[in-house]
Amino acid sequence: MQILDGKIASAAIKEKLKLIVEKRKAENKKTPHLAVIIVGNDGASETYVSSKVKTSEELGFGSTLVRMDADIPEALLLDQIKTFNDSIDIDGILVQLPLPKHISEARVIEAIDPAKDVDGFHPVSAGRLVQGLETFVPATPYGIMLMLEHFGVETTGKHAVVIGRSNIVGRPMSILLSSQHPFGNCTVTVCHSKTKDLASFTRQADIVVAALGKPEFLKADMVKDGAVVIDVGITRVPDATKKKGFAIKGDVAFEEVAPKTSWITPVPGGVGLMTIGALMMNTLKACERKD
Ligand code: NAD
Repeated sequence: MQILDGKIASAAIKEKLKLIVEKRKAENKKTPHLAVIIVGNDGASETYVSSKVKTSEELGFGSTLVRMDADIPEALLLDQIKTFNDSIDIDGILVQLPLPKHISEARVIEAIDPAKDVDGFHPVSAGRLVQGLETFVPATPYGIMLMLEHFGVETTGKHAVVIGRSNIVGRPMSILLSSQHPFGNCTVTVCHSKTKDLASFTRQADIVVAALGKPEFLKADMVKDGAVVIDVGITRVPDATKKKGFAIKGDVAFEEVAPKTSWITPVPGGVGLMTIGALMMNTLKACERKD
């Protein structure tokens, strides 16, 4: 068993990005600039947003963070997005999800200029991904592809089972793994909450991507020997022994599954770190397009 270590792979991405930004600065080219909007003060969202802003700064990107109260009218959020759409300096716009119930996520995502849609959630980006056209790939599946590439994990001709069909992770992941790409070319099965006898699918899989948000869902008897297991899940589980009062759990029962695998991602320290690296790659791409 080998670890798909997000620290190692994301450090390599960050190093590459830093050098590109330094070179752009030396050539008097524009520095990538990411704008992030957070609505309300959800603890997990705060953590994600602060690491996105911190990473932007580490890499020499510009960053703008706008905080809005949980009860703001949707129209105000749409106005803020328009301001960022119209700004020449801002290359990428990210609205941290989830949003409060009274705000339509679909309307908010569609309000973002597709040229600045570095999260890759806009229907234009999703449609282009389906058609194999150049686009912004949602950061988590993109980060997983970068991780497979970094560690040279063979995917061509393999059977991949993706658990979860969300627009953010499962759906784009299944499209990428089935695409004609050196780290795609899989035969893909998508499982979801209505799948019957899910274990009968995962047991056949050479690659399992678990993205359902159910802590330690994937057990050893659901995985075949030598499988590659990618754990996307991040759930806060109450844990009195931890300083913060919770532990972070993935969707894979790591201790029992890991010994059966050829490669596995840990949680934390796996996919989450890659997501941020991929987001930064998308922001650089948005900036480079303006060159
Ligand atoms: P989601 O709730 O939008 O989607 C979950 C999917 O899992 C759904 O398609 C549903 O059909 C499926 N599902 C739910 N219960 C199931 C079951 N018992 N059996 C089979 N399928 C089931 O969630 P999401 O946004 O796709 O996120 C999934 C997980 O990944 C969450 O834990 C989330 O926190 C995590 N996540 C991590 C990162 C990261 O950077 N590591 C990024 C995004 C999401």
